[in-house]
Amino acid sequence: MALRLTTIAPGVHRLATRYTNWYVLEEGGRLTVLDAGLPGDWRRANAALAGLGYALSDVDAVLITHHHPDHAGNAERFRAAGATVHAHPADAPAVRGDRGGVRLKQRLPFLRQRWYRIYMLHVLANGVTRVPAVAELDHLADGEVLDVPGSPRVVHAPGHTPGSCAVLLEGRSLLFSGDALVTLDMTEGKRGPQVIRGPDTDDAELALQSLDVLAATRAETVLPGHGEPWTQGVEEAVAIARRGA
Ligand SMILES: [Zn+2]
Ligand SMILES: [Zn+2]
Repeated sequence: MALRLTTIAPGVHRLATRYTNWYVLEEGGRLTVLDAGLPGDWRRANAALAGLGYALSDVDAVLITHHHPDHAGNAERFRAAGATVHAHPADAPAVRGDRGGVRLKQRLPFLRQRWYRIYMLHVLANGVTRVPAVAELDHLADGEVLDVPGSPRVVHAPGHTPGSCAVLLEGRSLLFSGDALVTLDMTEGKRGPQVIRGPDTDDAELALQSLDVLAATRAETVLPGHGEPWTQGVEEAVAIARRGA
């Protein structure tokens, strides 16, 4: 599937398939990659970096917003090429390969939806079951500003997974929300700000509570793991997500 490259702001780029986003931060000729797609995205992601004038060896760091394979799929490949990989300790065991069982039983009711069936076929075709474990991981801590290109601040927002984190570029009012707040539902394809329901969210109530910490960033632009950027302020996005829940 095509990987579309768009520039959000100077030095901030979005790589998007029809379903999932990852982002690239540029600073001083070095890169931070936020989330790392599915294994099937690898070649096109490298081509997109080349299109920006960078090689794989220019990636200093990869931040994984949470352990799900559509966000961590290429992290180990970046690490093997020299990048450090960062994830919250609560999601670290899964990123290191302890993914537990496939939740087939919880998925079955959703497979009645045509949108979800097509999405599941897409992730299977792109290696969702073949994500390499990350051999070495640095832990993210809530509130810390990472010394990597772009100087992103970590905002722990658990619920979708225990270690779900958003990433804030404070000076630029950009919040990368991962799957803690999205604008595309992954079970029916519904658009607009929302929390993810369904078989892939660990604790939907906690996810709703975590919207408060996202709103507190007061970021103007929300860049989610799934769906289009939201440019009308995180507080408004959170209010809509709450009404929808
Ligand atoms: Zn997820
Ligand atoms: Zn996701």
